[in-house]
Amino acid sequence: MHNLVWREPLVSKVLFFSLIIFNIAFTQTACQLYHQWVQKIEKLDSWVEITSWPNISIHVPYATPDNFAKVDMYCGSQRVFLHEMAANQFKTSLKWLSENHPDLHFHIWDGGRPLYAQEIMRSQVRGTPLAPFVSSPKPGGMHNYGMAIDLTLKNKDGEFLDMGSHFDDFSIKASARWAVEDSLLEAGELTSEQVENRRILRQAMRAGGFIQLPSEWWHFNAALSGWVRDSSGIQLP
Ligand SMILES: [Zn+2]
Repeated sequence: MHNLVWREPLVSKVLFFSLIIFNIAFTQTACQLYHQWVQKIEKLDSWVEITSWPNISIHVPYATPDNFAKVDMYCGSQRVFLHEMAANQFKTSLKWLSENHPDLHFHIWDGGRPLYAQEIMRSQVRGTPLAPFVSSPKPGGMHNYGMAIDLTLKNKDGEFLDMGSHFDDFSIKASARWAVEDSLLEAGELTSEQVENRRILRQAMRAGGFIQLPSEWWHFNAALSGWVRDSSGIQLP
């Protein structure tokens, strides 16, 4: 008994400091990988940084520990990059939004994503009920090609439009299928305002030729994933 009293705090202290050391090592590794990725991206003519584009706001949760994986994967960087094809399409969506809803602007959560970050996300959800919601780093998702964007809408006061669920919500409420939204509306799980807000976002992105991911209202692909991987000639950086 006497030993136990003294060992317990020791064990928890060791665990606590191991966790801190692990987190420091992890963050350093993620930082190195992030900077290597950015260096590569900056050398490519086919990628564009959209961070300082007008009429958008940006907050990347994956560059903070406040995301479903609970780790900062982007070394605190709030820079957003896209493949030029997606960036050009996004310009059209921006134009459509400013012409049709001048009181609204896009708020971006993520764009191009390094492959290692996809691996971290997968490892964090492996063996949990969230596993089916996070795509495998192989053969590379549309974010990895710079061909996907996660975003929502804000009003002129900088307030989020109510979309009925948060970013990276893994429940049925994240579904962007019209039939699911209609049934959630009927069941009182979504309001007509929330559904209307989602449809404004969808319309704006469709104006730029983006394709809605049916399971996540905030995710849009710039082209069909099969075409991007097999026929577009776009390489994974
Ligand atoms: Zn996404």
